[in-house]
Amino acid sequence: MARNDKSIPYKTYLDENEIPRQWYNVRADMKNKPAPLISPADGHALTLEEMNPIFCEELNKQELDNDTRFFDIPESVVDFYKMYRPSPLVRAYFLEKVLGTPAKIYYKFEGNNTSGSHKLNSAIAQAYYAKAQGLKGVTTETGAGQWGTALSMACAYYDLDCKVYMVKVSYEQKPFRREVMRTYGANVTPSPSNTTQVGKKILAEHPGTTGSLGCAISEAVEAAVTTPGYRYVLGSVLNQVLLHQSIIGLETKAAFEKLGVKPDILIGCAGGGSNLGGFASPFIGEILRGENNYEIIGVEPASCPSFTRGKFAYDFCDTGMICPLAKMYTLGSQFIPSANHAGGLRFHGISPILAQLYADKVFSVRAVEQTSVFEAAEMFARSEGILPAPESSHAIRVAIDEALKCKETGEEKVIAFNLTGTGYFDLVAYEQYNNGTMTDTIPTDEDIARGLALLPKVGNE
Ligand SMILES: *Cc1c(COP(=O)(O)O)cnc(C)c1O
Repeated sequence: MARNDKSIPYKTYLDENEIPRQWYNVRADMKNKPAPLISPADGHALTLEEMNPIFCEELNKQELDNDTRFFDIPESVVDFYKMYRPSPLVRAYFLEKVLGTPAKIYYKFEGNNTSGSHKLNSAIAQAYYAKAQGLKGVTTETGAGQWGTALSMACAYYDLDCKVYMVKVSYEQKPFRREVMRTYGANVTPSPSNTTQVGKKILAEHPGTTGSLGCAISEAVEAAVTTPGYRYVLGSVLNQVLLHQSIIGLETKAAFEKLGVKPDILIGCAGGGSNLGGFASPFIGEILRGENNYEIIGVEPASCPSFTRGKFAYDFCDTGMICPLAKMYTLGSQFIPSANHAGGLRFHGISPILAQLYADKVFSVRAVEQTSVFEAAEMFARSEGILPAPESSHAIRVAIDEALKCKETGEEKVIAFNLTGTGYFDLVAYEQYNNGTMTDTIPTDEDIARGLALLPKVGNE
């Protein structure tokens, strides 16, 4: 099949290495489009010209494009993908046996690259477009460290400077992640720092703070717009990131087609929404076009329940309240979740695409507690051998729950989940679980109300 043959619009194009040659943009099939990013000053939808000083130009075009169904993946990005893609779709025979379930469980394993997570799929694309634009470097934030690691790897490949603002608590508690990033050549600053105006302000107002993702975003954006030749890049939430991550779902769909198997349930954990969106969107496209039916389930931590207890409203993506507003399910930009070990799921908001699809009831979401998540992680590690990331283990939890339901009903459902990464840098969390000292903290209704009371008026009136 010709690589860029677009005559069959809904087919996945695989090359001889079985790597898709195009990303899929689910927005093209959405009747209700996701709400645009708007200005916090007066609520107008941001234009390409306004976005270009902050983000890379080609990525902004992808961000604003609600109509193009497929985007060609640049040749050089495909070459990079070949190092670790296609990622395996694995039948979890041993887990099925341990559970004694008639269900068939499959997982798509995105942890088979050195950065250890699916985030590399978008990092390499974003670095490519930054380089193609002739930029000198990019800035970003990282919480748990997976995104920063992925971006550092991608920037090393394209010889770009990479400035990472790392949430201070992670910088101190996860020195190994920090050193991986520095080995790939990134410059890593603990956030909040006194290298930016917003960082200085946060430090003055909250001396001794250990930082938050939202605060690191504010610093990274400021550094990008004040340093010539730099732009800001983001590892989740944005439309463009879901677009790049669609490679996960396209490969999954192609593999299932090859096996002659149709999945009944698709499960992904939800932080900012990029892996869930990327894994599920080709299947969601089929639902939206009325071609097929699947049950799609997002899984979030009970300690940071954006979908299940948040509000569908415009909100800041950052604590510093300097970024554009996005319409999403949010707990409020000032909401600080309790110390939860799934760092990648601690964001107060969610992708606007997923927010709209959730509002339209295309998929459902469950909130799970962290001790039950680690119980699932342990069961998975002991049966399938892979040490899963705490984030990924949220999806494992619900896959196991669904498989146990099948055990009761005798149904032979096909359950597929996205195993987003490995947990080698999360061993302090495993240690707590193994020692029996891990706890579950769920925000009270008052905590939630306090976060929602601070939503901006702009966009919500
Ligand atoms: C970042 C991360 C997540 C959550 O991010 P999404 O954008 O919601 O996918 C999940 N798993 C791993 C391993 C991560 O690094």
